[in-house]
Amino acid sequence: MTLQEVVPRLFGTNGVRGIVNTPAMDCRFATRLGMAIGTFMKGPVLIGTDARTSSEMLKAACAAGAMATGCEILDCGVLPTPALQYSVKITDSISGGIVITASHNPPEFNGIKCVDGDGTEMARDNEERIERIFHSGDFRTATWEQIGRSSVNDRAIPTYLDSVVSLIDAEAVRLAHLRVALDCSNGAGAAVTPKILERLGVEYVTLNADLNGAFPGHNSEPTPDNARDLVELVKKGGFDLGIIHDGDADRTIFVGDTGSYMHGDRSLAIAAHYACLENDGGLVVTTVGSSKCVEDAVKMAGGRMMFTRVGSPVVARAMIEHGAIFGGEENGGLIFPELQHCRDGAMAAARLIEIVAKHGKMSELQAMIPAYSQYKTKTSCPDELKDAVIKELSESAKDEKVDMTDGMKVLFDDGWVLIRPSGTEPIVRIFSEASSPDRAKEIAERFRQHVAQIVDA
Ligand code: MG
Repeated sequence: MTLQEVVPRLFGTNGVRGIVNTPAMDCRFATRLGMAIGTFMKGPVLIGTDARTSSEMLKAACAAGAMATGCEILDCGVLPTPALQYSVKITDSISGGIVITASHNPPEFNGIKCVDGDGTEMARDNEERIERIFHSGDFRTATWEQIGRSSVNDRAIPTYLDSVVSLIDAEAVRLAHLRVALDCSNGAGAAVTPKILERLGVEYVTLNADLNGAFPGHNSEPTPDNARDLVELVKKGGFDLGIIHDGDADRTIFVGDTGSYMHGDRSLAIAAHYACLENDGGLVVTTVGSSKCVEDAVKMAGGRMMFTRVGSPVVARAMIEHGAIFGGEENGGLIFPELQHCRDGAMAAARLIEIVAKHGKMSELQAMIPAYSQYKTKTSCPDELKDAVIKELSESAKDEKVDMTDGMKVLFDDGWVLIRPSGTEPIVRIFSEASSPDRAKEIAERFRQHVAQIVDA
């Protein structure tokens, strides 16, 4: 049996998530997971939270578990996930970090996410070690004189702010006299991004910039629907840029100066383009699900592309391994290795402001990047047939250009289709892109029908 079969999986792609005060995410669960994390990490641990109503409770429970195993706790309070990660990265002799956050999920959810000692999202094999300890109950027990203590670390936010601002050409931003509208989604970004805009000399107004775990403004996923108020504000107020974070501010979505909501691929492409121009080329990493506009923008600037499986830890690790100059996901998660190897919402905001200040209006930058139409669909498929579906599809696509990095991606002259079995549901997702909406739909529907035929056979 593999480790996966022995250890029921707790950690998803972004930590452990659950509805608060159910057995999957209550104080007993958090304490036990804290004991498993403490047993694994052994040394001092930085902990921080987003602004959810349950975050203090879960932090106290998780920290108590880790202290029981002898870990010292450094409590960074409420801050964005990337600010906690940066603090872990730069603090000597820290074993790792814990973030209490459910990112963009509705307010009744919360989660526990682990950070490796270098500040990156925890690698899957380390999560598996923690899961094994959690289920076995084989916790390290500290004696009375070894019990961990907890102290406040109030340097995490100021240090993070200094580091983000130091990487931006603040003089160029000041001279451009930009006006920016910022929607913090009542999340942890409110603790940093307004301060960064101030220090860059940007004139700005905010929406939902108070920390409020009830998310009274809108839910904390930066979808077009949740960004409606921001879009209106940018249109009416004549702002140069709109910025919206998700709940823990590792992701940022932008609204252009004409009030157009920009899908994450567009900002990823623009940031990648200028990273390549400034570095005289270089490698950019993204997932197989990102739009071809990213590759186009990178090639226009003399850079090279690498595509990985879906998931930001996978992108970050590929960037480290291959020395990439930039990377990210199509959902607004941008990774700037000059700061750190994780998605960083405030750094994304600062960098895009700098790009607009130096290179012109967002509408002009957008016009430079080719646009494609995308189409998403899905079809049901029992878990036990998923491998067979991919195998049969790949056999019938022998004469096509195929990429098997994650599921199966078929590349055509005028687009592509990605067929990926879901990791959590009995469905196969089909996602296509082409130069027209009709063509994107045609490609995706052809493959959806093919998958359904294989499943029904
Ligand atoms: Mg997030």
